[in-house]
Amino acid sequence: MNIGENLWHDIVEKLKKEFSETTVGLWFGSATLSSLDGDSVTIIAEDDFKKSIIEKKYLPVLERMFEEVLGFKVEVRIESAAGDSDARSEERLFITSAPPARPTPSAQPASPSGPNSRSEYTFDNFVVGSSNQLAQAAAFAVAQHPAELYNPLFLFGPSGLGKTHLLFAIMNEVKKLHPNFNILYVTSEEFTNELIDALALRQNRNMAFKEKYRNVDMLLVDDVHFIAGKYSVQEEFFHTFNALYNERKQIILTSDRPPRDISYLESRLQTRFESGLMADIQPPDTELRAAIFKMKTKLLGIRLDNEVITYLSENITNNVRQIEGALKRLRAQSFITGEPISKAMAADVLKDFFSSGGSERVTSEKIFSFVSRRYGFSIEDIRGKKRTSDIVYVRHIAMYLCTEYTGLSLKAIGRQFGRDHSTVINARDNVINRMKKDSAFDKEIRELSKELTTL
Ligand code: ADP
Ligand code: MG
Repeated sequence: MNIGENLWHDIVEKLKKEFSETTVGLWFGSATLSSLDGDSVTIIAEDDFKKSIIEKKYLPVLERMFEEVLGFKVEVRIESAAGDSDARSEERLFITSAPPARPTPSAQPASPSGPNSRSEYTFDNFVVGSSNQLAQAAAFAVAQHPAELYNPLFLFGPSGLGKTHLLFAIMNEVKKLHPNFNILYVTSEEFTNELIDALALRQNRNMAFKEKYRNVDMLLVDDVHFIAGKYSVQEEFFHTFNALYNERKQIILTSDRPPRDISYLESRLQTRFESGLMADIQPPDTELRAAIFKMKTKLLGIRLDNEVITYLSENITNNVRQIEGALKRLRAQSFITGEPISKAMAADVLKDFFSSGGSERVTSEKIFSFVSRRYGFSIEDIRGKKRTSDIVYVRHIAMYLCTEYTGLSLKAIGRQFGRDHSTVINARDNVINRMKKDSAFDKEIRELSKELTTL
C-alpha cells in the first residue's frame, strides 16, 4: 500500500471492488474521513439519509476494510455533514421509500488470506539476533535438507516471537526447492477438529483423515501444546507422527513451551518431540528490536528517523507482534493528520503499548513480592536458607515462576536465591511434575501465573 495515498481513498477503492461503482458513488460519493481517534474512526456522510444507509448496510464491511488497511480493529462511527437534527425523519423516509439496491458482491471475492497462504513470511524478512538465531538456523537447515538433519524440529517460545513466521518460511522455501513436495501445515486445533469430525463419521472419513496426514512429505504443526490433555487426539497424533517419522518425512512442531513443560502431554509424545532438535526463541533484546523496527518500516512503507526507532525499540519491549501493531498505528495516524511520524506522535499514539496493560516485564523482584504476599512469607525467607517444608514449597514456586517469566538464565535465577542452577532445575521440575499429577496444584499455578503476568 502506498503511504502517500489517503486512507479514505484506499477504503473507497476497496468498496468499489466489492460493490458496484454506482453504489459506492451513491452513498459514499462525498463522504469524508474526519478522525481516527484511538480505536475509532469517524466518517462524515453527506447527509442524514446517507448516514442512516451507511450505518444500516455498511458498518461491518467498513470495519473489516479499515482493519485490513490499518492492521488493527477500529470502531466505525458515522456522522452527518448536515448535523443530526433530522435523523429520525430521514429514517422514516428510508423505511417508506424503496430500499436501496442491494449491493452486489463483486465477481471476484477477496483472495483468501487464510493461514495456509502466507507467502510474505520468508527467511529474507526474518530478522536474526541472538535470541532467535538457533531457531532460525535450524529452520533454515531443515528447509534445505528436509528429514536429513533434525527430525522432528521442535521450535518453542512465547507468543509473538516468530514461530509461525519460521514455519511458513520453511514452507515457502521448500516449495521453491521441491515444487512437488506434499507439504501440510496445520494448527493443532485444526488437527483436533478434523480428527473429531473424522471420528464422528467413522470409517470412511477416518480413512480419509489418515490418508491426508500420512501421505505428506512434510508436516508442520503449529502450537502443538493444544493437543495436551486430549487423549484421543494424542493417540492419533502419536500414530501419525510415527508413520511419518518411519518413512523419513520431516516433521516440524511449534509450541509455547518445551515438551517437558506441557502439562498432560503423554510421555511417549514428549519423548518423540524431544528426539530431534529443540530450539527456543527468546524475547528480542533492544538491538534486535531496533533491527526489526527498521525492517518492518520498510515493509510497511513508512519513514522513521533513527531517533524515533530508538525511542520505540526502547519502549516496546514485549514481542514482535506489538512492534507491527505499533507501526501500523503510527502509519494510520500519519495518514490522517498528514504529519510525519515523530517521537511526540509516537508517545501520544502508543500510550497503551507503553503502559503495562499486561505487557510489563516480569522481574524476579516482582515475583518475590507477589509470592510473598500470596503465601505470607517474607521475601528474605523465600530467598533464604530455611528448609521447612512450607517454605521450600513456596521457594520452588518462586523459582519456577522465575524460569517461566523473567527470561533470566538458570544461573542468574540461582544467584537470586544464593544457589546454583541445578537447584533451580530441580525446583522447576518438581513444580512441573506436580502440576502434571495434581490438578488442584496445576490450577493454582496457572492462576498464579495469569495474575502475575496481568498485574
Ligand atoms: P508466534 O507464532 O511465535 O506467536 P508469529 O510468527 O506469528 O509469532 O510472529 C508475530 C509477528 O511478528 C509476525 O508478523 C512475524 O512476521 C513477526 N516477527 C516475529 N519475529 C520476527 C523477526 N525476527 N523478524 C521479522 N518479523 C518477525
Ligand atoms: Mg504462532
